[in-house]
Amino acid sequence: MVAQVIDGKAFAANVRAQVADQVAKLKEENGITPGLAVVLVGEDPASQVYVRSKGKQTVEVGMNSYEHKLDAETSEEDLLALIDKLNNDPAVHGILVQLPLPKHLNEDLVINSIDPAKDVDGFHISNVGLLGTGQKSMVPCTPLGCLMMLRDHHGSLSGMDAVVIGRSNIVGKPMAQLLLGDSCTVTVAHSRTKDLPDVVRRADIVVAAVGRPEMVPGDWIKEGATVIDVGINRIERDGKNKLVGDVDYASAAERAGAITPVPGGVGPMTIACLLANTLTACCRANSRPEPEGLTA
Ligand code: NAD
Repeated sequence: MVAQVIDGKAFAANVRAQVADQVAKLKEENGITPGLAVVLVGEDPASQVYVRSKGKQTVEVGMNSYEHKLDAETSEEDLLALIDKLNNDPAVHGILVQLPLPKHLNEDLVINSIDPAKDVDGFHISNVGLLGTGQKSMVPCTPLGCLMMLRDHHGSLSGMDAVVIGRSNIVGKPMAQLLLGDSCTVTVAHSRTKDLPDVVRRADIVVAAVGRPEMVPGDWIKEGATVIDVGINRIERDGKNKLVGDVDYASAAERAGAITPVPGGVGPMTIACLLANTLTACCRANSRPEPEGLTA
């Protein structure tokens, strides 16, 4: 079997187009422009790239982008004061604090100070609880993107065996909750899982979110399974820098029914889903109908 390639770049472009369409309607019919505030503390180079990219795409879909760049030495008190200001600003519908934060700042405290209704990353403890209990919440962007692609490919996921490799709060755990919400039978595998190959071989859906280059070889993949590769790993091969996923793409593509490439798979979906979440937050704040197909 040669796998169908799930084109995340095209999928994300389509999500952004849907968001842009809805934003234009909100402006025209209600005079409302969704606004996303992104807070960056310090000068981590990767974070700077993400924040720039988020700002650019926010403006491209017609939303207002508010960037707050704070010094690496910023005190917790000052950061919490800024979040409080954004929580109370009616022009701001989504707030994202770029992680990781400098070590002197308590990440949990900072994230939990964001108004849950504006928590477009879905990391606030209230949103984690709402998702876990199957209630309306803000859903973390990367797992939401994976879910959208899986639903698009399969229609219903009901009754499918899904394995999520990785149990992080950002990807693995919310991904497992979303798959459970769509009635999959879910196994969460991690660094202490015994006989991972055997666990993966039983899965109709494999979501790999580990951060280890090409650790899942093709012969772990059940014939016809759908493989969603969240991993982004920089490696050097043949003297060149390359991005690879957590799955060995070449061998997995020979057995899978469908697979996301790296780059160009899950990656582009994350910011697209951040924009979708900001639109959802804005619609909820203004008692407008939620955008169809852009939420969990
Ligand atoms: P993390 O380091 O927080 O979690 C990794 C998880 O993998 C842990 O739960 C750990 O138990 C598990 N693990 C480690 N070694 C393992 C092993 N040998 N076998 C099985 N499980 C093992 O990472 P994260 O934040 O969840 O990110 C995972 C990967 O996804 C990284 O490569 C990251 O760059 C990527 N990522 C991509 C996006 C995106 O936009 N596409 C977003 C977030 C993360």
